[in-house]
Amino acid sequence: GVAISNLSKSFGDNLVLDDISITVNPGSVTALIGPSGSGKSTLLRCVNLLETPDKGVITVGSQTVEAGKRVTDRQLLALRRQVGMVFQSFNLFPHYTVLRNVAFPQEKILGRSREEAEQRALTLLERVGLKDKADQHPGRCSGGQQQRIAIARALALNPRAMLFDEPTSALDPEVGVEVLAVMRELAHAGMTMIVVTHEMQFARDVGDHLVVMAEGRIIEEGDPVDVMNSPREERTRRFLSAVL
Ligand code: ATP
Ligand code: MG
Repeated sequence: GVAISNLSKSFGDNLVLDDISITVNPGSVTALIGPSGSGKSTLLRCVNLLETPDKGVITVGSQTVEAGKRVTDRQLLALRRQVGMVFQSFNLFPHYTVLRNVAFPQEKILGRSREEAEQRALTLLERVGLKDKADQHPGRCSGGQQQRIAIARALALNPRAMLFDEPTSALDPEVGVEVLAVMRELAHAGMTMIVVTHEMQFARDVGDHLVVMAEGRIIEEGDPVDVMNSPREERTRRFLSAVL
């Protein structure tokens, strides 16, 4: 699983994350919602150390990193390997084929042979419904297809957990649905996930736990159905009525 304990982060004198603690049990899905600027992306970026936390402890699987203590390159790599991240933008390599996009990081990061990496890439492309695109370039794929390629690429590194930062918000609703379906299947297969999303139906159906953030703090959390049906906080109510 993933454990975030007492995490704080400032940019200059802007306290963006204020003592955040979240535990995501192995195989469970935590949905994270909250207004723009509440710190959701920064939180995910701290989990895989794209941002350096000021305070707190982050544990992913067997890997623990404590803020303030020196992190060796080895620890950093070990932690990053355990966490796959999918962003709003897909950041695929435009000059590589779809197959090479999914195979290349395995060769580079895990030292797999080209043959092994491409075999695994094909398996994952099949899983996300895109085996027939293997030899095309990403530019010729739809946004939803590109996002599914990005998911396959992250999965190819065998992460212990997956972080999703609004993976469908740049997509037309009809292609967003394809991406949500892949994520839903991944959740059912037992992947540990943290998902920042405005897709409330997804959060309700797939989420085991819902966390609501505002101004760098967790203002409310619980079973997604309970929180959505009867929010305790006025700010949660306001946010939900804006997105539902
Ligand atoms: P959104 O829903 O719009 O994606 P968010 O909840 O993901 O918002 P963050 O992107 O985490 O919010 O930003 C939280 C706060 O941190 C904002 O005030 C933002 O301006 C600030 N911030 C984020 N990244 C940086 C940075 N690299 N340098 C300075 N400030 C930053
Ligand atoms: Mg964000």
